Amino acid sequence: MALYRIYSSLFLFLLHTLLDCQALRNYPDNEVTLLDSMSAPGDLGWEAYPSEGWEEISVMDERNIPMRTYQVCNVMEANQNNWLRTALIPRAGARRVYVELKFTLRDCNSLPGVPGTCKETFNVYYHESDGAVPPPPLRHARESQYVKIDTIAADESFTQSDVGERVMKLNTEVRHIGGLSKRGLYLAFQDLGACIALVSVRVFYKRCPLAVTNLALFSDTVTGGDQALVEVRGSCVEYAEELEAPRMFCSADGGWLVPIGRCVCRPGFEEIDGQCQPCRPGFYKASAMDAYCMKCPSHSYSHQDKASECVCERGYYRAETDPRSMACTRPPSSPGNPISTVNETAVTLEWSPPRDTGGRGDVTYSVHCRKCSGSVGEMVEKCVPCGSSAHFSPRQFGLTHPRVQVSELQPRTNYTFSIEAVNGVSDLSPSPRHLVNINITTSQTVSVIVKERRSRDSITLAWQGPETSDGAVVEYEVTYYEKNQRDQNYTVLKTKSNIMTVEGLKPGTTYVFRVRAHTDGGYGNYGGEIELETRHEDMLAVGDPNQNTILAVSIAAGVVLLILLVACFVVSGRHCGYIKAKQDPEEEKMQFQHGRVPLPGSRTYIHPHTYEDPNQAVRDFAKEIDVSNIRIERVIGAGEFGEVCSGRLRLPSKREIHVAIKSLKAGYTEQQRRDFLSEASIMGQFDHPNIIRLEGVVTRCKPVMIITEYMENGSLDTFLKKHDGQFTVIQLLGMMRGIAAGMQYLSEMNYVHRDLAARNILVNGNLVCKVSDFGLSRVLEDDPDAVYTTRGGKIPIRWTAPEAIAYRKFTSASDVWSYGITMWEVISYGERPYWEMSNQDVIKAIDEGYRLPAPMDCPVVLHQLMLDCWEKNRSDRPKFGQIVINLDQLIRNPSSLKQLANSTVWEDPVTPEPAFSTVADWLDSIKMSQYKEHFSSAGYVSLDSVLYVSVSELGKLGVVLAGHQKKILSSIQCLHVQQQQQQQQGTQVQV
Ligand code: AMP
Repeated sequence: MALYRIYSSLFLFLLHTLLDCQALRNYPDNEVTLLDSMSAPGDLGWEAYPSEGWEEISVMDERNIPMRTYQVCNVMEANQNNWLRTALIPRAGARRVYVELKFTLRDCNSLPGVPGTCKETFNVYYHESDGAVPPPPLRHARESQYVKIDTIAADESFTQSDVGERVMKLNTEVRHIGGLSKRGLYLAFQDLGACIALVSVRVFYKRCPLAVTNLALFSDTVTGGDQALVEVRGSCVEYAEELEAPRMFCSADGGWLVPIGRCVCRPGFEEIDGQCQPCRPGFYKASAMDAYCMKCPSHSYSHQDKASECVCERGYYRAETDPRSMACTRPPSSPGNPISTVNETAVTLEWSPPRDTGGRGDVTYSVHCRKCSGSVGEMVEKCVPCGSSAHFSPRQFGLTHPRVQVSELQPRTNYTFSIEAVNGVSDLSPSPRHLVNINITTSQTVSVIVKERRSRDSITLAWQGPETSDGAVVEYEVTYYEKNQRDQNYTVLKTKSNIMTVEGLKPGTTYVFRVRAHTDGGYGNYGGEIELETRHEDMLAVGDPNQNTILAVSIAAGVVLLILLVACFVVSGRHCGYIKAKQDPEEEKMQFQHGRVPLPGSRTYIHPHTYEDPNQAVRDFAKEIDVSNIRIERVIGAGEFGEVCSGRLRLPSKREIHVAIKSLKAGYTEQQRRDFLSEASIMGQFDHPNIIRLEGVVTRCKPVMIITEYMENGSLDTFLKKHDGQFTVIQLLGMMRGIAAGMQYLSEMNYVHRDLAARNILVNGNLVCKVSDFGLSRVLEDDPDAVYTTRGGKIPIRWTAPEAIAYRKFTSASDVWSYGITMWEVISYGERPYWEMSNQDVIKAIDEGYRLPAPMDCPVVLHQLMLDCWEKNRSDRPKFGQIVINLDQLIRNPSSLKQLANSTVWEDPVTPEPAFSTVADWLDSIKMSQYKEHFSSAGYVSLDSVLYVSVSELGKLGVVLAGHQKKILSSIQCLHVQQQQQQQQGTQVQV
């Protein structure tokens, strides 16, 4: 009993300590308590048996509420079997409950004199029950009626106090019971002879508390009965929608595991702190998939919150396919500057793009056609749609380029074409469309007079009838008058034939002739006028009939050429306006990918004009270089926009390289800056060993610069002239091969160069030739060889294919023509193509079939290749790929180069007028002035005297350089032809 007392006092001390702590006790929020013996109000209703076994000890807490604890300490007697059983503890749906026991247990050794039956453990049992049937009475309790949870031992019985005393230790043990299924359970504690104080019994289960994950709400969930996870389906929070069914797993420990699926905030709402908050006014969120609300794009607004899209401002629209993030746009303004070029019953209409595209890149054009009758003033009233009779090329509606050709119109009819620019929102606008009208009248002309014969008092004319006609030709009407006398007198003659001799004319007088056709449908328009002069009396006085004929034929030939030349310009004239070399996208089948860098391997050139913002093209294709990485050394040339310097570029962690630096001179306009940089955005798209490589640009500080690889030997034409006659044919072939390979690459990229010439090829220290000069405006503003044509465009006539001169048909095939001329320049060491012939003569001669002869020492095969490049029909010209293959074969097989072309005579009757009359003038004209002295001191004074100078004589004269000899001899060939023609004309005059 003494022991018991000691034990009780110690126990009470402990209990009070525990009660103090009790007020601070906070159970985790995932634990739900089913029973807590310390805080249970009122009688616990526990039973003990036998009565001298477990004893209830009540203490009052600070609120004066009794707290019940149990103890037993019958250690002195053997055969103890003391049971303590709780009341029914409802399970509350839990399948797994935890039992937390707080107790003290004395070790037997600490109790002096206790017998060997003293125990240091106790057993804990449970019994499941529906509550209907009372549990087995305790006095008959047998272990088999209960399920044993565990035998509980103390971890420690005593602990050391601060002052070194042994203090009884409060033990805490937790056990769990799984697989519960009945309404509740009883816990039972069996003491077999230990000294125990059961201070607190707590029974609880665990749950996963309410949680919000991925915008899904997961409700409070009781954990599973065993180790299995409980799968829980979440529901989306307010203003959210399911993207993928949200699920999570509640673990047995009361923790949430593995979130799967998610909810997202609905349009008009964005996620903030796990909730969906409405977008503020001025912001919108179009899709649940967008993370955040965005500011309304340009020309749109949202006055309310929760906006899923912004409303377009008045006059602005959004096409159905436009993303909601795109600015609202409006229909384009009308196209500008319509130009028509009528060719009988066909018309080419061209116009400029609308000044305002409405903010869109999808502008197309539609052309409406009306046929009108009556005078011009009455047109509107009497116009009817053209119907399907007119043929539009490439199409009538949805034109992507501002140009259309309309054919199969009726002759001599007034038409009104209305051109409209349309974009993706034109149909949404109720405002009337902006149209631009153009009126034209088709004609029916007699085509060019093609033949004539002259005598003292008569002139014979011949012509071709109209190609298209609204009826059979009844007759032709020939009108003529004496030049400068038109107002006074003109004569009209009629004939059914297309040849007529007009008689009764004054000798040596110039007449102006015009011809028109009269058909069932009425009179057509006059063809072009032609001026012809009758022969002079004195010329006729001395003549023999044969020579008369020769003269007539000769003049006829001249006239034919003149007419063809005129025709050529008439044809080219159909394209009014400035022949500025722009890539014609429709003709050249360029693929535009706006705003995008070409995909690797796609090899398609992107025209910088397809960018709304040209600076973007520069950013896309050219690397920005920090000016501090550049060191300028010296000026090496002058470009269109400023100086060209050489210098060094050292990029971080790269070796220093030699570069050429083109700078944009101060005081430039924005347009000039764009044009200057356009060269970089074109060049930056190319990557080929025979194309000049762009290193980068400097745009962030002034002056703006373009940095390219440095080409030690400068431009090819100057280089060749400097090293006249110094290279082997194979070396020259290597240069030509390089240029052809570069051009093959460009043509495969769908890029048409338009100004291929030796002056635009750069040569490096290893004689590698690279194609350069890619600016947009450079063609051909800065090219000294480009001349204005009659239509105002600039074209380097000598290098340009006839179809490109005549009607701007610039293609890779016209580049092939220019390549042939460049080959000729290479073999002749920079000789000027067609020497000093005038551009007009060059056009005339080419049209007549004349082609440049082989330069001196030129292998036949190379001249043949040039001739192939100069095929009139562009589809007959070789492709650059074939040229490369051809040149490779020649390089591999040099014996094929042995046969040199024989180029002594010109086959062509058309020769240039000599622009000089003395040997000195002649040498000046061929830039060989340095030999004037040599010729004059050797007695060559008249031009005639040099006609038969041979190579060996040139050597004796002191002209030793092979290239110079070549140049002089080719020019002598030219003099020969001129001489021959003069002689021929002289003979005719004498007739
Ligand atoms: P451009 O305006 O491009 O025709 O250049 C004018 C001149 O500068 C050319 O005729 C060349 O002599 C010289 N030049 C241009 N680029 C280079 C370069 N990359 N390497 C060497 N010289 C160049």
